Amino acid sequence: MSELVKFTRDGEIAIITVDNPPVNALSPGVPEGIAAAIGQIEADETISGAVLIGSGQTFVAGADIREFGRITSGERRGGINLTSVVRTVEDCSKPTVAAIHGTAFGGGLELAMGFTYRVALGSAQVGQPEVKLGLIPGAAGTQRLPRLAGVEAAARMCADGQPISAASALALGVVDQIIEGDLLGGAIAFLREKIPSGAHPPKTRERHEKLGDPETNAAIFAALRAATRKSARGMTAPLAAIDAVEAATSLPFDEGVAREAQIFQECLFSDQSKALIHVFFGEREVARIPDVPKDTPLIEIRRAAVIGAGTMGGGIAMNYANAGIPVLLREATREALDRGMATIRRNYENSVKKGRFTPEVMEKRLSLITPQLGYDGFEEADIITEAVFEGMALKKEIFAEIDRVAKPGAILASNTSTLSIDEIASATSRPEAVIGHHYFSPANVMRLLEIVRGRATSREVIATSMSLAKRLKKVGVLVGNCYGFVGNRMLHPYGREAQFLVEEGANPQDVDAALVNFGMAMGPLAVGDLAGLDVGWRIRKEHAHLHDPNVRHPLVADALCELGRYGQKTGAGWYKYDENRRAIPDPEVEALILKLTADANIRRRSISPDEIIERTQYALINEGALILEEGIALRATDIDIVYINGYGYPAWRGGPMWYADTVGLHKVYERVCQFHQQHGDHWKPAPLLKHLAEQGATFASFRKA
Ligand code: NAD
Repeated sequence: MSELVKFTRDGEIAIITVDNPPVNALSPGVPEGIAAAIGQIEADETISGAVLIGSGQTFVAGADIREFGRITSGERRGGINLTSVVRTVEDCSKPTVAAIHGTAFGGGLELAMGFTYRVALGSAQVGQPEVKLGLIPGAAGTQRLPRLAGVEAAARMCADGQPISAASALALGVVDQIIEGDLLGGAIAFLREKIPSGAHPPKTRERHEKLGDPETNAAIFAALRAATRKSARGMTAPLAAIDAVEAATSLPFDEGVAREAQIFQECLFSDQSKALIHVFFGEREVARIPDVPKDTPLIEIRRAAVIGAGTMGGGIAMNYANAGIPVLLREATREALDRGMATIRRNYENSVKKGRFTPEVMEKRLSLITPQLGYDGFEEADIITEAVFEGMALKKEIFAEIDRVAKPGAILASNTSTLSIDEIASATSRPEAVIGHHYFSPANVMRLLEIVRGRATSREVIATSMSLAKRLKKVGVLVGNCYGFVGNRMLHPYGREAQFLVEEGANPQDVDAALVNFGMAMGPLAVGDLAGLDVGWRIRKEHAHLHDPNVRHPLVADALCELGRYGQKTGAGWYKYDENRRAIPDPEVEALILKLTADANIRRRSISPDEIIERTQYALINEGALILEEGIALRATDIDIVYINGYGYPAWRGGPMWYADTVGLHKVYERVCQFHQQHGDHWKPAPLLKHLAEQGATFASFRKA
């Protein structure tokens, strides 16, 4: 037996305990241990049945994800494979029970399906989430699940990767009984009840009654494929998972398993899977900050306060309330306060309507938000977040005020999207307490929290902010202080190129479609319409005196604003909008573009989707390289996580910097040099891009010395 698998007995029942903390992953040693235990059970005549259970928090929660990288990199070859261990379990001549608590995901569920029976705590969940890593189940899960759950449910579970509750698993036939209370005791009792009759269900792989008929199945697969193409746009694994489940319905079991293995291998070595595994580990890696060690003391956050109840402030207050933290919400005027609270209530009501939580939960959350016009109670807040209009003078005024009311040790955060945290901090007597908490709209939905470190920000304030992000169910990414930080700074050249492409001959809908096909959640021009074109227009007007006439500037967005086309809020921007907010290409915009470009002597030509991708993506990447070199982001991964969680970048491309690595930095650099020659100094290659390209290196391996 291995260290990771323990063998004990309760009379005639063998108990196999997987003990591989924290989640009993199927690391090397675990499958071997289970196979050895089954051997022992077969050999021992005094044993009449066996229960497998996980120690600690959970059943086997899945594969050891690091192993996938070891296989694709060639570091690991061979080893015992789970498929054969599940078969060994299934072939055991004595009845077996998998006792499930916590989660039986991926390989965990595949393992459980080899047992004669499965029992579970009511709180347990089961699922095949492999698609989230660009994979499909690889230990016959796609072949056994339809035999237990039926074709439709199995195909859906393998394609969307969502877990199901123990109750649903019972209803589907994946689980045979729900146990309340003592799981091990219940599982043993369940088995003892079954043993005397000797009438056990057939091996899962020999069950065919739920595999359906070709005609019904064809309809099921067609409908699911159509839905999946929409919900998992651009991703290959969900469709591959459906193919594998379909093989279960059309091939004998062993051939189905072989087919699954072949599809699994294709997925495992795909760029998409490598990208998604990079993102999985990236979300953990961003928490590691070299000069802020894990044991940095944290400031306890029991009460919060927010200033400004507009678009962002309201969402930020909701984040605190959702996490059970009482929050004061201050506005400048009664009218704005009422409007802000009405929006919050409406958001919560919509969630209740969608069945996300009960009206009681909504009332509880609302009761945690205290709307007010003054600073009453701010002296008790452990953190104060400012979300007023974007303007330095106003922000400094507010920070000077909160410096006077906040207790010593409180965190003073700004939700500014661009402004200098150092300058904001200079308005206070405690710059060490000041930090940027840059949320994304809608703040109660978007997962990203860019945490902006000022020159003086203390380690405690940084560590607390990172830990708070988790508590608010966000991914916190620490970034340095510069105009626009990581996300918005990179967005600038990306948006600029999108507009230049329109001026040079592409239609707005061509630009957006190319980027949506690339995988972006929305095209950049449609995003502009959603966010409001007037925001940037006002900023540009404010900075008009800095305008360099020798540098090319986009022409169309400002002209749209001058016509009152601010985007969705005015019913028209780059597109016009119908009553369902559907974007419709507008001949007026086309005419405007033609006029502006003719006046500016811009030669129009036909532009390919490939050029649209290269111009916009490489603009992002070149700026990302500067950010990395300046140390504004700690690692390329941090930039990737920002873009995936805050800007609708497709996770299956791994983020912009990972995408650059997949294209090859040499190729990216060459194109950037060509664009530099054709389009001028906007395209000056980042020295780091040049350096890494010449070295044959990657962004992923770069660490600033
Ligand atoms: P908004 O106009 O919707 O809300 C700002 C609110 O602040 C208004 O309700 C206003 O009445 C209130 N306010 C102004 N002065 C105040 C004062 N002295 N005391 C109390 N309240 C006051 O703006 P928003 O979109 O929520 O943006 C707020 C901040 O968040 C800005 O710094 C912005 O750059 C940043 N931000 C915005 C977004 C976005 O997508 N909208 C995203 C990230 C960050």
